Amino acid sequence: MDPARLIRPEILALSAYHVPESEGLVKLDAMENPYPLPRELAAKLAERLASIELNRYPSPNPRRLRELLARRIALPAGMELLLGNGSDELLQIVSLALARPGAVVMHPAPTFVMYSVYATYFGMKAVAVPLRPDFSFDAGAFIERMRAEPPAVVFIAYPNNPTGVLYPEEDVVRVIREAPGLVVVDEAYHAFAGGRSFLPRLPEFPNLLVVRTLSKLGFAGGRLGYLAGRPEWVRELNKVRSPYNLSVLNEAAAIFFLEHYEVLEGQAAQILAEREPLGKALAELPGVTVYPSQANFFLIRVPDAPGTFEALRRQGVLVKNLHPGLPNCLRVTVGTPAENRILLSALRESVKSSQCKDGRETG
Ligand SMILES: *Cc1c(COP(=O)(O)O)cnc(C)c1O
Repeated sequence: MDPARLIRPEILALSAYHVPESEGLVKLDAMENPYPLPRELAAKLAERLASIELNRYPSPNPRRLRELLARRIALPAGMELLLGNGSDELLQIVSLALARPGAVVMHPAPTFVMYSVYATYFGMKAVAVPLRPDFSFDAGAFIERMRAEPPAVVFIAYPNNPTGVLYPEEDVVRVIREAPGLVVVDEAYHAFAGGRSFLPRLPEFPNLLVVRTLSKLGFAGGRLGYLAGRPEWVRELNKVRSPYNLSVLNEAAAIFFLEHYEVLEGQAAQILAEREPLGKALAELPGVTVYPSQANFFLIRVPDAPGTFEALRRQGVLVKNLHPGLPNCLRVTVGTPAENRILLSALRESVKSSQCKDGRETG
């Protein structure tokens, strides 16, 4: 039987989320924390995991984990948490809960692709409002668009992926105030954003939710995201969550990570210390434009992104090629000092060779 007879056309038109082969490569494509758990902590974690009853179902809404998390992030009084298998699951839950037929999902663009993908899954209409050419946020244009086509939900990545830009707080506030529906501020890169966050402001806005993740803090494989908001929102969204969305393994490992949160914060500080020197060094390469970033990655523009991407891969470095969606743009994660050196030298080589090629072609 031909699946195309039954599968919805908008699903047939999608391609699956592409994750490239990375074995043996310096992996700078996915904004992971490059530092592993220190050896003695890993041993303790193994011991903790060994005592888990894998024959039992997980607790459906792990209280200990929620309480520990609430304390770690200073969740404002009266607000509640919803836990997800990564923040991706929470973005999906929000979309699903709001998916009246034809409901509008609005977001600045370019941004995290999953906002519009989830809209497609659930039969919603994704409306992308372009950022300015320098990737700054045009709040006026966004608000105008919201008036023309009132969104059930607005997704704002703060800071944005793949650009690294952190929009001015007052621009986001304007959107929250003017939005006719829900606004989800996605703070996946919170740890690198100099403390800027909407979490403390949750009590001010009845239509605001904040979503974060441990993924960029060293727990990408462990999978834990969280959504913070008013109980009346969390209560409804919780109905859409699969009963056992967190396994006993990710629950226990997340608790362990939160008990040692200072280790993760220390690693984030190491990444942050590398950001500025890496940005400067990238900007010094001929032909490379670097966009300022408040996250653990840089968006760069090069003369020939596909060529540079391949040249980097041949030299053992994996980055993210955003071309042609973002013409001649690559996204590079801030790695360890050694990884960043490898990236820079590989990039220097590939830019050099593309210049030689240009020289031949024009000369
Ligand atoms: C990485 C990322 C996420 C998803 O992270 P999870 O691993 O699913 O927690 C969500 N939003 C943005 C903007 C991201 O960059």
